[in-house]
Amino acid sequence: MSTRPKALITGASTGIGAMYADRLARLGHDVVLVARDEARLQALAERLRHDNGVEAEVLRADLLHRADLLLVESRLRDDADISMLVNNAGMAGGGPFADADPDNVEAIIGLNVLAVTRLAVAATKNFVTHGCGTIVNIASVTALMPESFEPVYLATKAFVLALSQSMHKELASRGIQVQAVLPGITRTEIWERSGMDVQALPPDMVMEAAEMVDAALAGLDMGETVTIPSLPDMADWESFNDMRRRLHPLLSRRHAAERYRLPT
Ligand code: NAP
Repeated sequence: MSTRPKALITGASTGIGAMYADRLARLGHDVVLVARDEARLQALAERLRHDNGVEAEVLRADLLHRADLLLVESRLRDDADISMLVNNAGMAGGGPFADADPDNVEAIIGLNVLAVTRLAVAATKNFVTHGCGTIVNIASVTALMPESFEPVYLATKAFVLALSQSMHKELASRGIQVQAVLPGITRTEIWERSGMDVQALPPDMVMEAAEMVDAALAGLDMGETVTIPSLPDMADWESFNDMRRRLHPLLSRRHAAERYRLPT
């Protein structure tokens, strides 16, 4: 049996997930690679074994198919050697709300919200039993920018951010580290997969996947609950949150605010 830590990474066949697999294997993790494209996963697993001497297993799964999702869930729940989940598989698209295809909307929510949440639940059950574990949920800066991207996609990422912050609050005291990563525009296939051209975007706004993942792993080491690789000063994020928290005592009260009261 291996004594190395083991990480399960979803969406590991390319892009950010493949980069996490590369970096975690270099750091001495065994990896379980999850995605649909088995040939790509096998090629990556072979390289990771060869370059790093770790175990790399392929778990082919379409997370939009219930039977596959349940298989990955049961692996996360029952494999006591897994100590890290990188909840990364996701899809963009959706387009303007008025033009949305309901089936496409369902798929985006199914992958970005439902699968992410069910896998986080399964990993949590495992990690709580052992009193330790790490869950990395890949959100997006669009979670903070409701005016500026495709509505369904950014709403799924706002869900992932809120879920992660709430999970952290509940689970930190039980030995589980939860991190939400909010990448900005990152050069991966997600753009062409959703019919957009990353080359057409201003180069100053586009980060390479390696740099994004290295920054996210540095944030994880620093114990951050939310990591925003592009943001120059995390104090700006803290003051945003301080302002939000200042509203807490005002958000649920016995009477409606004065402006909503009928004239008497
Ligand atoms: P990507 O290059 O398109 O990779 C997506 C990964 O998810 C692939 O490995 C894909 O593999 C897998 N996947 C897609 N549908 C799946 C399904 N039904 N079941 C299982 N696996 C599936 O995207 P990426 O840019 O690396 O995105 C990774 C995460 O980062 C996503 O959550 C995305 O929303 C987030 N993000 C990306 C950016 C960006 O600019 N790139 C910015 C912010 C956030 P298969 O096709 O082999 O299944």
